[in-house]
Amino acid sequence: MSKKVFTIGRGENCDMVLADPSVSRMHAEVTVESPSRLNIKDCKSTRGTFVLRNGRAEKILHETISSHETLRFGTMDMAASELLRVFSPAGGTPDGQGRGHSGKRIRCECGAVRLADQPCSECGAR
Ligand SMILES: [Zn+2]
Repeated sequence: MSKKVFTIGRGENCDMVLADPSVSRMHAEVTVESPSRLNIKDCKSTRGTFVLRNGRAEKILHETISSHETLRFGTMDMAASELLRVFSPAGGTPDGQGRGHSGKRIRCECGAVRLADQPCSECGAR
């Protein structure tokens, strides 16, 4: 079974839309390697993709990231565990939403990642 590649960016057609001017339209590609590891590939983004390690932001081009690390797209920080949660093919909530759902994700104003066509589970925003 080939691994699905998810896209992250400001563009409407990305799997996860980050509506921030520092994020490129097509910023990065994400592949879930395992329940605790992600592969991140920067798509020649303008502001770059970084991983925060030991208090420093290290620019990455193509790298495997562990679930405890934090990523930065442009100036937007996102926990790797959050990306794993929303892109993991395993599991899912009883109503079929959340993990494994094929719908488009956006980052809510409250900071949570939510499905674009569903109310936010954290703050209720639509
Ligand atoms: Zn919210």
